[in-house]
Amino acid sequence: MKIISSLTEMSGWSREIKTQGGTIALVPTMGFFHDGHLALMREAGRRADFVVVSLFVNPSQFGPGEDLESYPRDQRRDEELAKAAGVDLLFCPQAAEMYPAQSQTTVTVAGLTQHLCGASRPGHFNGVTTVVAKLFNLVRPHLAIFGQKDLQQLLVIKRMVSDLNFPLEIIAHPIVREDDGLAMSSRNSYLNGEERSLATGLSRALTRARELVAAGGCDVGEVEAAARGLLGATPGLTIDYLTIIDDRTLEGSESIDDHAVLAMAVWLGKTRLIDNGWLLGGE
Ligand code: AMP
Repeated sequence: MKIISSLTEMSGWSREIKTQGGTIALVPTMGFFHDGHLALMREAGRRADFVVVSLFVNPSQFGPGEDLESYPRDQRRDEELAKAAGVDLLFCPQAAEMYPAQSQTTVTVAGLTQHLCGASRPGHFNGVTTVVAKLFNLVRPHLAIFGQKDLQQLLVIKRMVSDLNFPLEIIAHPIVREDDGLAMSSRNSYLNGEERSLATGLSRALTRARELVAAGGCDVGEVEAAARGLLGATPGLTIDYLTIIDDRTLEGSESIDDHAVLAMAVWLGKTRLIDNGWLLGGE
């Protein structure tokens, strides 16, 4: 597996592969890999000749007071895991080269970023769309894979790709969960033993909501209240948002239909966790 940090080298490698007719799949990440990341990498390998994984803890998507400094990092371990998952190239750019002092441009997706995590984390999605646009221009992949764990991010990126005519396909990957239902996340490493067990409240709330819907519950307010009741009753857990949204607009859903998604963000101590899922059908 090749490891590149220089932006020029990255573009050069990509140009070379494409000249030879090879296809490239990109998996953007912030590292500290878990099985969710590895599933995206393996899916990338099934869809393209070459898999590029970017590993960059992107400073511009963290707000003041957020966990940029403490974000878990272990590049050696990530290198081993990526290699074992069949990754061809690990792209680890440096912040100073990604954001030279003279840069003045950001990419903004307007509407979809006003809701959910965009409302709780002002500026977060500008950081995400700007870095992902840069990664697309540097790597020039034929396709890029994003997890549904970050559903808003996935939809915002799809919007950006469509609005700015990026010549690539965006593939969504279902949420990979621990055996007890907790959605895998690098931030789960922040949780102490007690918080870790309380964190299952998220997936339990989703299961509860789905059960209600399967049993004929079709009132948005009622299903939302049941999920909120379960999650809100967890001591030590604070709900940031819990809402049933329409996956096309990310605005509150009026009915439980194929587009209805339960989206949640909670605080467990200093750790912010998110989860989501469609209420009808699977993930
Ligand atoms: P991150 O390193 O957390 O920025 O995540 C990199 C990519 O992996 C993003 O597209 C995430 O949505 C995706 N991802 C993270 N956790 C999971 C998970 N549990 N299941 C599926 N995809 C995930």
